[in-house]
Amino acid sequence: MKKEKLFCCICGNEIKKEGCPNYFGNNPAGAMWKDENGNVCEPTFNIDARCCDECDHRYVIPGRLYKLRQMRGGN
Ligand SMILES: [Zn+2]
Repeated sequence: MKKEKLFCCICGNEIKKEGCPNYFGNNPAGAMWKDENGNVCEPTFNIDARCCDECDHRYVIPGRLYKLRQMRGGN
């Protein structure tokens, strides 16, 4: 069985995990970050886009938490 390589839609690295041949990354929806000028970047992704674990932790999870706080009316 041959598996096509997956690449992270945020950093471009190959998505893979030791010992997990069927690992296919994370859903990047909700990812947000600030660029070097302090502007918030909130890209939209294709429905089948995947991101690596590192970007999930750096951009996706914080982005979702940020939006959750906004919805609740906090800062
Ligand atoms: Zn990545």
